Parts: sequence; structure tokens; C-alpha cells
Amino acid sequence: MAIIVQKFGGTSLADTDKIKNVAKAVVREKELGNDVIVIVSAMGHTTDNLIKLAHEISKNPSEREMDMLMSTGEQVSISLLTMAIQELGYKAVSMTGAQVGIITEDTHSKARILDIKKDKLLEHVQNGEIVIVAGFQGITKTGEITTLGRGGSDTSAVAIAAKLRVERCDIYSDVEGIYTTDPRIVPTANKLKEISYEEMLELARVGANVLHPRSVETAKQFQVPMRLRSSFKLDDLGTLIIGVEKMEIYKPVTGLACDKSQVRVVICDVPDKPGNASKLFTLLAKHELSVDMIIQSFARTTNNTNDIAFTIDKDDLNKFVGMKDEITSILNPSNIHIDEDIAKISIVGAGMIDRPGIAAQMFETLAKEGVNIKMISTSEIKISCLVEKMHAKQATEALCKSFELEGKEVALVHGTLPD
Ligand code: ASP
Ligand code: MG
Repeated sequence: MAIIVQKFGGTSLADTDKIKNVAKAVVREKELGNDVIVIVSAMGHTTDNLIKLAHEISKNPSEREMDMLMSTGEQVSISLLTMAIQELGYKAVSMTGAQVGIITEDTHSKARILDIKKDKLLEHVQNGEIVIVAGFQGITKTGEITTLGRGGSDTSAVAIAAKLRVERCDIYSDVEGIYTTDPRIVPTANKLKEISYEEMLELARVGANVLHPRSVETAKQFQVPMRLRSSFKLDDLGTLIIGVEKMEIYKPVTGLACDKSQVRVVICDVPDKPGNASKLFTLLAKHELSVDMIIQSFARTTNNTNDIAFTIDKDDLNKFVGMKDEITSILNPSNIHIDEDIAKISIVGAGMIDRPGIAAQMFETLAKEGVNIKMISTSEIKISCLVEKMHAKQATEALCKSFELEGKEVALVHGTLPD
């Protein structure tokens, strides 16, 4: 029998009625003739509430005790869901991460999974039981309870799916799949039938917050077919996330993301000599400031300087402002310019590889709209343009039209040609 891994997030488990609904979705998969292993998150906002409780007691609670506390959220879900499945007349058993043997690194609060023991899980499966496993948590080799970082139960699910080489890993949440762009900005955005791991990772990095990025990385590494689907619309298959080589690609661009959470910094007139970029970015790294787009201008012959521009997270802006004096003393720039009024628009698509003209089409589309591009960066399957925030919606809509990301279902279906 094939094993299917299902994962249900907090919103799907927010109250007991919803838990009963999830039990039905689990049983439905079992009725299709599959063995089922289910990974769950904590109910609703449980994890946030637990963190709040801790901070009512301590400003700086120890990470060990935070993991001990936060791991309880998932333990509530596994037992209640197991009871709900048993009520429907099916054999089911709950297991904590420690009981399964989800072995992690020693780091509390953001531990990575090192190994997963299969024996106990498979014993229950072979017994005909549906196994309900607590996501987000693991145990170190020395028996300490750890958690994997916020949103980490997606990663628990994919890691178990990878270890058992299961047929499919279905991630159920309150969204119906991956869209070509944010349906709140472009209401005609399409739900994709398929997307590749690579594209999903690029979209996750540019601000499409649907899956824990580490879960997609793990799925890519072990080639686990993953489906993102809605727990409230069980007949809808959602979006399948698979390896790019398994896809038939008809369109160069799969999706578009608009990220308004960054600010641009320009360090003006930095002396053009070896070591200056290194000094600047080492300093930023030392303060744990992560940098996204970086551009260094051509050196001016008049005073032998160039400008270095980059983007950082808006949340890090205060930290950066606090570093301005230090940067000035090291690089002696004429000015440090900060621009908060920006949005980063990125188009992503595995079909861009070896297809010239995609960047030109993007720039031309923006030009026709009178949208000025402030910065450009590219990767093999992504082109990002920085524009003024007030142009974000207009640019998004125009690009969606130009790259056919709206209207009818996007033709990424394996083996089916678009009409
Ligand atoms: N309950 C954890 C959180 O809220 C893990 C998860 O939801 O995936 O971050
Ligand atoms: Mg969650």
C-alpha cells in the first residue's frame, strides 16, 4: 500500500469542529486505499499564546524552556485529532517527535533535523493504524526537546515523507494552492496546477509566504512530490510542487511576487579600491543584517569612487541607522542615502533558462506604464526590479498581463498543451 503524508496547519485545527473536519480528510485518504501518516501543527494561535505567556513571566526566557513550552502545542493537537479519528471508527495512534525519534541538532528554537527513525512509525502503519505525529518538534541525541523554528511543521512533514520515500506529501492549509501572484493584488491571478521546487524557493524568498522554505529545500533535495491544498475544499487538488525536470514548460514565467518589506540604501562615493566592499558587507554581517539586491556602479574617473547600493529588510532599518557612523568612519562616503519608498517586483520561471528576451519584455512593460526602475537583479530563474511603492500595483497588473499570469488556468499541466 502507498503511504501518503498529510500535514495540517494551525488554522485547519483551530477548534474541535475543525479537528473533526480534518479527521474526515484523513479518513478519506485511508478510504482511497492508502496508509496515512499525519503531521499536525498546534491549534490556531496556540504557539503565539504560549510565547506570550512566557514573556509575561520572563523578558528573556531560556531557549530550553521555550522549546519545552512550545512543543506542548502540537501535543494537544495530536491527541485530539487521534480521538476524532477513533470516533469515526478507525485505528489511530498519536506520537510526539521524541516517540517517533525525530533526531535534531542541539540548537534550541531552530534545530535542523538530522535523522528520523522509521521503525516505530512503520510498526504502527503495518498494524493498520493511522499515525498522527507532532510537527515542529524533535529530540537531540542526548534527549533534549527541540523545535524547528516557526512554521516548522511543514518541514517535519516533508522530512518524514523523504525518509519513508512516500508517494506524496500533502500540505493542507487555508489557502487553495500557489497562485501566479497574490490574488489580493490581482484578483484574476490563477492557481497553478504545478510549480517546480526551484520556482517555489525563489517565490518564497521574494515574499510569497505560503510554505516554510526549509520544507521546499528538503523536498527538492529528496525529490518528494509535495501538494499544497486546502483543508476546506477537499476535492480541489491544489498545486503540485515537483522537480523542474518532471515538468513540461510552456511559459517562461510561472509567477510574480511583490515585496514591500525592503528599503534601499545607497552608500555614495566609496573610494574605488580593493577591500571596501568586503569591509562594508563584513560589518553588515557582523550585525546580522541580511542584504538582498547589491549593485556597485562603474567607477567614476573624476574622483575614483563608486556607489554601492543594496536592499535590507525594513525591520533592520533601525539597526542600520545605528551603524551609519561606523560605516562613515570606515568608507568615508559623501552620503548614505536611505529610500523607504520602494517595492520589489520579481518574475520567476524555470522556463526563462535559455530563453532570451524575458528581461527585455519586463523592462518594456514597465516602460510603457511609465514606471521607473531603480535597481535590477537576476538569477537563473528570476528577474527582480525595484520600483517606487506607488507604482507597485500598476506594475504588478501590467506584468501579469504581459506574461499571461491571469485569465485562464496557466498551462503548466504535465503533458498537456495550452489551448
Ligand atoms: N506551531 C508552530 C508555529 O506556529 C509550528 C507550525 O505551525 O508549523 O510556528
Ligand atoms: Mg503555523
